[in-house]
Amino acid sequence: MKACLLRAPADVRSNPLEYADVPQPEPGTGEVLVRVKACGVCRTDLHVVEGELPPRKRPVIPGHQVVGTVEALGKGSKRFAIGARVGIAWLHHTDGTCDYCRSGQENLCDAPSFAGYTHDGGFAEYSVAPEDFVYAIPESFSDEQAAPLLCAGIIGFRSLRLSGVHKGQRLGFYGFGAAAHVAIQVARHWGVDVYASTRGEKHQELARQLGAVWAGGATDEPPDKLDAAIIFAPAGELVPAALKVLKKGGMLVLGGIHMSTIPSFDYKLLYQERSIRSVANNTRQDGEDFLRVAAEVPIRTQTKLFPLHEANVALQELKADRINGAAVLDCTGPA
Ligand SMILES: [Zn+2]
Ligand SMILES: [Zn+2]
Repeated sequence: MKACLLRAPADVRSNPLEYADVPQPEPGTGEVLVRVKACGVCRTDLHVVEGELPPRKRPVIPGHQVVGTVEALGKGSKRFAIGARVGIAWLHHTDGTCDYCRSGQENLCDAPSFAGYTHDGGFAEYSVAPEDFVYAIPESFSDEQAAPLLCAGIIGFRSLRLSGVHKGQRLGFYGFGAAAHVAIQVARHWGVDVYASTRGEKHQELARQLGAVWAGGATDEPPDKLDAAIIFAPAGELVPAALKVLKKGGMLVLGGIHMSTIPSFDYKLLYQERSIRSVANNTRQDGEDFLRVAAEVPIRTQTKLFPLHEANVALQELKADRINGAAVLDCTGPA
């Protein structure tokens, strides 16, 4: 099969992904083989490719927003029928036995594995995953539309949940990429007012189109104090900027897996019971709940499609903030 292989992390401008012929994977016990139709491109893929996340498998096929159909079943697999449309997301497997798994926090598992990082992912024509960690994809979404729901969507949803916002409240977004453009639709559905601080006119315009009551530059101060805020951009300097705008008791959620160093700031920005918390991965329950809500809203993702062999280009455009919405690879090949 065709796949994009990362042999060693490097700056995306050096085209580190090699479009290569590799053996088609075989589903092991409890796994399914998925014929990949579309795979979303996430900022975490960029962190894997450029080495901000230390390599865990070499070479590795990135990609953890995989939409496709079940092509074959491993031994003992019975959850999905051949031909069923499914999604593979970041959380590839958990041990099920650690304290976290046993207390409903499998996102914090001590021994997790991840698609497109510790295991080969979906920048390929085929991918395998344990059936228990695979999602059924609601019919109302096309493959291309569904792909960004699997990480951008699910992590944005978990970020929203952790922010604690509810109807009638004000929520700030810092950065307006793939996750934010989905999360705003859920927030609006819940009756929450969204304020978007983001660099780039196009991102601000998309935020307004999707119902933001205000959109401004990356560190522009929103006109109102906020009940909660989510930082999607991997920029630590946004933390004090966001705290400054939070109401007393407000919650600041950091939605990324990687962030540049947070500068020191005055205690008074945090005092008055403001909180900061990060988001790590998601539980399968988050995924199931989000996909149900996504079909209900219904979420409309804005996507830019690239052929599989242009994965490097997709990552370069993502890094340069040139994607409005989410980048998606068309993996239906042949190129
Ligand atoms: Zn565990
Ligand atoms: Zn992701």
